[in-house]
Amino acid sequence: MSKPDLRIVSCPTCKKSVPWSEKSAFRPFCSERCKLIDLGEWAEGRRSIPGKSVVTDEKHNEFTEELD
Ligand SMILES: [Zn+2]
Repeated sequence: MSKPDLRIVSCPTCKKSVPWSEKSAFRPFCSERCKLIDLGEWAEGRRSIPGKSVVTDEKHNEFTEELD
C-alpha cells in the first residue's frame, strides 16, 4: 500500500513533465539545457532563445554590406 511520494512538476522552459526526484538533477527543469536557457533569460532580462540572435545578425549584415 506504500505509494512513492513522487511529485511531477513542469519544466519552466519547455513545460515537459519532470519527476521531482533525486534523478532529476536539474529539477524543476527537465535538463541542463532548459536550466541554462531559463537562467540566460533572467540574465538578459528578455524572453528569447539563445543561439537565435534577434537583431545582431541583421546589424552585422548591414555593416558588412556597407564595408563592401
Ligand atoms: Zn525542459
